[in-house]
Amino acid sequence: MTTFYPGPSKVYPQVATYLQDAMNEGILSQNHRSIPFMQMLKECILVFKQKQNIPDDYEVYFTSSATECWEIVGQSLVKNHSLHVFNGAFGEKWFEYASRLGKTTSSYKFDFQEILDENIFSSADVWCFTQNETSNATQINNSFFGKLKTEALISIDVTSSLGGIELDWKSGDIWLASVQKCLGLPAGMGIMICSPKAIKQAEEIGDRNYYNSLLFIRDNFIKFQTHYTPNILSIYLLMRVMQQVPDIQAIDLHIKERAKDFYNFISAETNLELLITNNEVRSETVIAIKGTVEEISVLKQKAKENNIILGNGYGAWKDTTFRIANFPAIEAWEFDKLKTLLSQ
Ligand SMILES: *Cc1c(COP(=O)(O)O)cnc(C)c1O
Repeated sequence: MTTFYPGPSKVYPQVATYLQDAMNEGILSQNHRSIPFMQMLKECILVFKQKQNIPDDYEVYFTSSATECWEIVGQSLVKNHSLHVFNGAFGEKWFEYASRLGKTTSSYKFDFQEILDENIFSSADVWCFTQNETSNATQINNSFFGKLKTEALISIDVTSSLGGIELDWKSGDIWLASVQKCLGLPAGMGIMICSPKAIKQAEEIGDRNYYNSLLFIRDNFIKFQTHYTPNILSIYLLMRVMQQVPDIQAIDLHIKERAKDFYNFISAETNLELLITNNEVRSETVIAIKGTVEEISVLKQKAKENNIILGNGYGAWKDTTFRIANFPAIEAWEFDKLKTLLSQ
């Protein structure tokens, strides 16, 4: 079976071996305050930061999901007011969850076919963006965040791009994601990356009211422990996959080239269209393709017969689009197979 679903998505085939290794090494039965666990957590964070080119003074924490990270931002990093800038379903969901936490929230919705203008004005102390909007296959350009004129913390959801493209870490303060998309791992863990400025703001706020208050998480991670019994298997698998993959610069080149090639292919060699007509805002890791209800249903049937899973369209586009994950775990032969299917 070949899957192009944008999350949960194709797991690196090597994970089969790593699962067996995890059993053999006995790490899964270790207490999460034991020395072997702490060494493993330390190595995992180290290799993750190295491969993703994350600045030394940024801190990495593991949570249970990207959704949990949204909540942690609202609880522990927002002083009074968060601004939510979005053009699609995930950004909007973040705004909705944040609005239930009792602090002021405001939203700024932009057109998904348009480039987001960096002249944003708000008195909010945390500004929230979704860099790669998985629902409509758009992205905000890497250079955007550095152009924002504000002292607010910049918080960025990179759930479907972290591990696939290189991110400009220094231009953001809080980066959040989960492992089941571009990182090619089984679902069940979230990742949060914080700048020194974000940590300073968390200390000023001093929130320690929740099991997942950032300061409490941090107290534990500084000792290479965790605030609750974590997904030890997921931490182990992330470590092994990070040891295996090349540096993000190399992956970034490969993913961007494959995105370009695939976008060209859809336009030049099929009768299908791209959902995103403005090529400046097209995502490089999630691609949405449009057709008539008839075309899409025939294609999905053909895909099924060929053991290929296409990602369903999101929400209102369910019957007229499908999505293709351009994630690093997916191999060249799989894209060849997909192209053969789509050009028939
Ligand atoms: C998938 C996704 C999420 C949710 O991730 P979970 O791990 O299920 O919490 C959040 N944001 C974006 C952009 C996503 O693609």
